[in-house]
Amino acid sequence: RQAREAQAQRLESLGQLAGGVAHDFNNLLGVIINYAGFVRDELEDRPELANDVEQIREAAQRGAALTRQLLIFGRREVTAPEVLDLRDVVHGVETLLRRALGEHITMRIELGDDVPTVRADRGQMEQVLFNLAVNARDAMPGGGTLTISTHRTVDDHGAELVVLSVADTGAGMTPQVLERAMEPFFTTKPEGAGTGLGLATVYGIATHHEGRVRLESELGAGTAVHVELPALGAAATSQPPSDDARPGSRG
Ligand code: ADP
Repeated sequence: RQAREAQAQRLESLGQLAGGVAHDFNNLLGVIINYAGFVRDELEDRPELANDVEQIREAAQRGAALTRQLLIFGRREVTAPEVLDLRDVVHGVETLLRRALGEHITMRIELGDDVPTVRADRGQMEQVLFNLAVNARDAMPGGGTLTISTHRTVDDHGAELVVLSVADTGAGMTPQVLERAMEPFFTTKPEGAGTGLGLATVYGIATHHEGRVRLESELGAGTAVHVELPALGAAATSQPPSDDARPGSRG
């Protein structure tokens, strides 16, 4: 339990740092993207130069996509919460996920009958599913089974939770990797293959929604990621976090 608290604190301060840096970086990248766009538009008669400027604009846009992930981790991204049945969210991305997984992976979906609704941002929930599915796929290069499930549970204090779980039968993690897996930029994937922002983003989204993430993993057996969100009703008094909500500001 102490280790978990230390980890939560480390993620919390990393979140503040990353969120601050990402915010300033995002503004700078916005300036680059805009001016590169202006210059490109003025270079109609110089197609090679226009193409070079377009490369600059696209690179800055990729950078902006990365900083957005960091903003989510640092919980500075705006959310548009609505009342959601997570089972609908899963159904909505099912086809896309199947395509992303490829044919050698079997996808199973197990949605409980009595799953309460949650108050959440649909796009961010979709991103959670997508990030977790991509990790699961990467952990099962030789094929395997990915199981997406939802169920209702109750926490230590009796509060009702909705759990969204993504489990794979892949490579699993060593205790050392498991310990650091949610840190931004932590990756064991080869250069270019991973950003180290997948689980950090999932963590940011879960905490943004007053929820949490639990990782279970066994080397050689597989991994399960459980995203736990307050069930609607149980969390009725909590306000959706505002745009500039900082980590730690809500306890
Ligand atoms: P990335 O996927 O870009 O490396 P993540 O933050 O999503 O970044 O994951 C960090 C690391 O955690 C991965 O590099 C990998 O070592 C480990 N990991 C994440 N998900 C899984 C999984 N489902 N199975 C095994 N290892 C995983």
